[in-house]
Amino acid sequence: MKIGIVGAGVGGLTLALSLIDKGYRDIQIYEAAEEISDLGVGINILPHAMQVMSGLGLLAPLVAASVETGTLSYYTQWGQLILSDERGINAGYRWPQISIHRSQLIQILHAAVVERLGIDRIKTGHRCTGFSSTPGAPAQAYFENGQEEFDLLIGCDGIHSAIRKGMYPNEGDPKWDGITMWRAVSYMPANTIFESMIIAGKSEHRMVMYPIEKGGDGRYLVNWVAKYKTASAQEMPRQDWIHKVEDSEIPEDFRKFDFLMASELIANAEVIYKYPQVDRDPLPSWNLNNVTLLGDAAHPMYPSGSNGA
Ligand SMILES: Cc1cc2nc3c(=O)[nH]c(=O)nc-3n(C[C@H](O)[C@H](O)[C@H](O)COP(=O)(O)OP(=O)(O)OC[C@H]3O[C@@H](n4cnc5c(N)ncnc54)[C@H](O)[C@@H]3O)c2cc1C
Repeated sequence: MKIGIVGAGVGGLTLALSLIDKGYRDIQIYEAAEEISDLGVGINILPHAMQVMSGLGLLAPLVAASVETGTLSYYTQWGQLILSDERGINAGYRWPQISIHRSQLIQILHAAVVERLGIDRIKTGHRCTGFSSTPGAPAQAYFENGQEEFDLLIGCDGIHSAIRKGMYPNEGDPKWDGITMWRAVSYMPANTIFESMIIAGKSEHRMVMYPIEKGGDGRYLVNWVAKYKTASAQEMPRQDWIHKVEDSEIPEDFRKFDFLMASELIANAEVIYKYPQVDRDPLPSWNLNNVTLLGDAAHPMYPSGSNGA
């Protein structure tokens, strides 16, 4: 079976590894970007996703490149502890919960695909523009620079999926709920507050942080996000995930999260990215003949439950 995967993000690369594991070899992956990298920041991966990674033989490299999330603590915006919950292995799961830099996660997945399938099976610089499919015939995938035919075509091309758009041309843009997220990673001096995952404040004015690296020099690389309701619900304001902004844009209120050393976290960030918190309505079906959707292309998740990956 000739299988085409559109998108080499978390979903597309994991899918390729799962298909290889099931014995499929005729797989081609198409990625719009010129090279496989993920600028992003940190990502937290739950035990049920780590179970999949473990089945793909990636537990050891992922654990080595990450920090285990042993507890998740909720605080009020004034620093009062509400609840501290054990996570991953500490909570009795067989697989850990981990916090990792997205670029490390992508590199580990990419290296495994290259090793098991070959570098020539990932074509970068190939932006898909749509597809056509009729029952009983191969699906045609269209790219800015050509066209290919597949027995099975899978759209793993994220929240702005061209494959999804081909299936539902009238759906329109993702919906923004008015919440803006500023995200970054910052090197911070060792401090018990940075040892595990913390969620502080309420849903429309919240800070989330967790370490993704504990350096040999005692410093922590801390991933943080400041979430704030900045508008009423409307169409997504800007259509990308690498929108860099100045720290002066972050509302002054966040510097009041003193107990999280918020001012220092913001000051120590090299790059701050701004994201609108967006969502899409559920679809009646993810399939059309021999074409299907996976990951954010099928069902984007709010980034508050660590469930997207
Ligand atoms: C701010 C933020 C924080 C998050 N934090 C977490 C977290 O802590 N834990 C968690 O589990 N999830 C988190 N998520 C969600 C998670 O990032 C997504 O659910 C996950 O990345 C989806 O993977 P995907 O492969 O479906 O899409 P993506 O990761 O978006 O990958 C899509 C890939 O397709 C490529 N592509 C796009 N269009 C085309 C095209 N037309 N042709 C070819 N290639 C194309 C893109 O370049 C990209 O490489 C977060 C999301 C956001 C926005």
